[in-house]
Amino acid sequence: MIGDTDKAWMREAIKLAKSKGTSPEDTPIAAIIVLNGQELARAVNQTEELLDATAHAEMMAFRRAGKAHGDMDIRHATLYSTLQPCGMCTMASIWAKIGRIVYGAGRDDVHRMYFEDRHLDTIDFIQDAWREDLVIDGGCLRDACAALYFGPDDDVPIEEQGNI
Ligand SMILES: [Zn+2]
Repeated sequence: MIGDTDKAWMREAIKLAKSKGTSPEDTPIAAIIVLNGQELARAVNQTEELLDATAHAEMMAFRRAGKAHGDMDIRHATLYSTLQPCGMCTMASIWAKIGRIVYGAGRDDVHRMYFEDRHLDTIDFIQDAWREDLVIDGGCLRDACAALYFGPDDDVPIEEQGNI
């Protein structure tokens, strides 16, 4: 269930994403990790800047959250992401003991270039995880988040599609 507090954090994440730029070409993806109502970490996608394929917004946020919390285990924290987390970031959420994932735009709202697999998705990884306490809620400010990215039918040049 997505509530007003979730929407407020997502608005914050959208603002953060836009700090990278407002064109889909800027890959404006942002993540914020919140624990007990307090922000633990925030990050944007930095793969191009750091020349690091693992520097997704969520991964960068996990790195900062671990340091801020003094522990890689951030059980009960909520991860807000403007875009549905990819397989890597979903797995990292499981390892980091995230309690809840809230995302904005989902797979069907954006171009397929944002996801590494044809069919396997975030939900599959979570449903199959040993964690019984991990909750996922998608579609928080869906339209505002989707507007940041290439749409499902956009004609994106092959060289801009990171998953092929
Ligand atoms: Zn990712």
